[in-house]
Amino acid sequence: MNIKDLSPAELGEFVSGKGIQPYRARQIGKWIYVRGVSSFDEMTDLSKDLRETLKSAFAVGDSIELAGEQVSKDGTRKYLFRLSDGNRIESVLIPDKKRNTLCVSSQAGCALGCTFCLTGTVGKIRNLKPSEIIDQYLMVNRFTNGSVTNIVFMGMGEPLDNIDNLVRALENLTDRNGPALSPRRITVSTSGLAPRIKELGDRISVNLAVSLNAPTDEIRNKIMPINKRYPIKELLKASVNFPVPPRKALMFEYVMLSGVNDSDKDAYDLGNLLSGINCKLNLIPFNEAQPLPYKSPSMERVLRFQEIVISFGINVRIRKNRGRDILGACGQLAATYPARKTTGGSAAAGAAI
Ligand code: SAH
Ligand code: SF4
Repeated sequence: MNIKDLSPAELGEFVSGKGIQPYRARQIGKWIYVRGVSSFDEMTDLSKDLRETLKSAFAVGDSIELAGEQVSKDGTRKYLFRLSDGNRIESVLIPDKKRNTLCVSSQAGCALGCTFCLTGTVGKIRNLKPSEIIDQYLMVNRFTNGSVTNIVFMGMGEPLDNIDNLVRALENLTDRNGPALSPRRITVSTSGLAPRIKELGDRISVNLAVSLNAPTDEIRNKIMPINKRYPIKELLKASVNFPVPPRKALMFEYVMLSGVNDSDKDAYDLGNLLSGINCKLNLIPFNEAQPLPYKSPSMERVLRFQEIVISFGINVRIRKNRGRDILGACGQLAATYPARKTTGGSAAAGAAI
């Protein structure tokens, strides 16, 4: 087991269980997360006995291995990582004027089978361990001289289908003896596992993005099988009750698929659905990727859609398509796994979790 698989509290329990003073756990945390050591022997302010105890219980250092890197003409970087069992995941670094956002994966593949998402075509391979989530951040931050400012869980996988490991990773990333990232700089994106949204809010503070993607159950059922399990009404209820960090707003994401959910009527329905909710809406023009069966709407359509939803008093932005040329944009990550099927849409995907 990698020592980063333990939450700060679990590391504290391990240390106190061995009869060692609690402040040692804080020292260990600093060595791992701040100084980034790759062996226990480098932890020079710990006794030799303690280092041996740790060595016999845990691995330290990178839990994943860089297997490839691609740079987009817009500066976006896609990193391919190999896991110790040979599986592969991807992370994407998106530099912007004021921030450098790292989009991380939470699972290899995804069980939810949204019909517009390349990761969904792969199916779920397995959950990532906390160390495998954390190391995407630690390693890319190291490769780029500490430049990562924000983390979004919008890479491969459904983070709330791996909630225990997600929470452990978040606890470490925000721990003041660790990387000490502000919860305001971390966003978890979910396709809408309503009960888990509540659970996440009860367990940790973080920003929440909800992939709404349709204004009615009729449309959402067709593109997101999970909607049959947790329909829009239930999803919205859980979302509005989520405790976002101070001065932050709940975010909704809406992938625009030409001829499917991008009509004027859809925009009015969406405006009605969200009016009165304190939120931001991000429109994501569909990123095309083989073998997905959809088309991206024209920019004119996207702007018209935006204008209608804004007329309901909602804060609506259009997400830039960063890294499309290297298949690094939203929904284009598959780490070169072959697609298991061309379209999802069956209830089986939702039932799998
Ligand atoms: N499983 C989580 C997080 C990963 S997907 C979720 O679904 O929220 C991150 C975002 O990418 C989601 O909002 C999803 O709707 C969007 N997305 C998926 N495929 C896409 C595509 N082909 N084009 C544009 N956005 C896509
Ligand atoms: Fe999974 Fe999110 Fe892709 Fe849906 S959009 S298949 S939940 S990764």
